[in-house]
Amino acid sequence: MERIPMSAPDLDESDIQAVLEVLRSGRLALGPKAKEFEELMAEYIGVKYAIAVSSGTAGLHILVRALGIGPGDEVLVPSFTFAATVNAILYEKGIPIFVDVEPETYNLDPDDLERKITKKTKAIMAVDIFGHPAEWDRILEIADKYNLKVIDDSCEALGAEYKGKKIGQFGDAGCFAFYPNKQMTTGEGGIIVTNNPEIAKLARSLRNQGRGEMSAWLEHERLGYNYRMDEMSAALGVSQLKRIEIFLEKRDKVARMYTERLKKFLWVRPPIVKPYVRMSWFVYVITLQDGLNRDEVINELEREGIPARGYFSPIHLQPYIKEMFGTKEGILPITENISKRTLALPFHNNLKEEEIDEVVSVLQRVVERKIS
Ligand SMILES: *Cc1c(COP(=O)(O)O)cnc(C)c1O
Repeated sequence: MERIPMSAPDLDESDIQAVLEVLRSGRLALGPKAKEFEELMAEYIGVKYAIAVSSGTAGLHILVRALGIGPGDEVLVPSFTFAATVNAILYEKGIPIFVDVEPETYNLDPDDLERKITKKTKAIMAVDIFGHPAEWDRILEIADKYNLKVIDDSCEALGAEYKGKKIGQFGDAGCFAFYPNKQMTTGEGGIIVTNNPEIAKLARSLRNQGRGEMSAWLEHERLGYNYRMDEMSAALGVSQLKRIEIFLEKRDKVARMYTERLKKFLWVRPPIVKPYVRMSWFVYVITLQDGLNRDEVINELEREGIPARGYFSPIHLQPYIKEMFGTKEGILPITENISKRTLALPFHNNLKEEEIDEVVSVLQRVVERKIS
């Protein structure tokens, strides 16, 4: 059997044709495709504005700027996430205040969130981790009570729903990402979504070198960036978005096949999905029983030809964060415990049943060798 990849984009001939058409048109940037992608995405998510950008990280950075988060402002954020979530805050000299996670979904724990609010707290950066929506009712209630801004790092959750409403509609704004391991891809790319016209206008300016809507090409109203999405990426986005519901169904089917096979083992906990959400599977992450050495399990899986990855390594224990803020082990008990036990299995739209069987049987062999 060919080596099973950790992740893989789902590309077909229509995607290839869409990109070729842009190349043949000669218009590679600032053209009609980015606009079309934005309109289709706004409609899909159910928001008024969508602003395509060069990456999810760029989109999050723009949102931190657009919401006026600056030096000394505290932003509540999970540590159990991808570094980009926290980096977007650091680019503007905001201070990340790390919040622990719920033991079931690994999303922000609303009780710990409220405990960590101070006079300096300006915003909440929530994450819908692995495509499972955060506990939005409670988060928004707390934000309202303390008058905090809310950014949704929804980069892992395109198409997910919380109590019947699509992710991307919660908080002041959200941002999706389209790196090739996400639910759909544009190569590199991201998109900001919001119902707030001021945020939308600022985001358009910030991604385009700080130009105003009416500015001449060399007229800049503010410090901006080149965070624009190019036309090839946007065309691929338009083409991929047409199949997003098929992609999400395929991913759900793969996840169900994994869970069906893993739920009988006592040494592993498959992902937990709350009854009132629609999960949009980004990665399939399992939690090993306490005491099993996760990193050894990953190495042994690799040795048997099955790729696997530790997901996530807490951000508050990364070398640069420890150096900047003096953070130490012990401040986030749940995050620290689970991050030693979680691992992502190979996961993509077209993973076959035989491949899932193989991954599970190798995993079983590796783990049972260790606990026997
Ligand atoms: C993918 C991802 C991002 C953005 O990543 P880019 O590679 O910059 O597009 C941000 N936050 C989270 C949680 C992600 O998973």
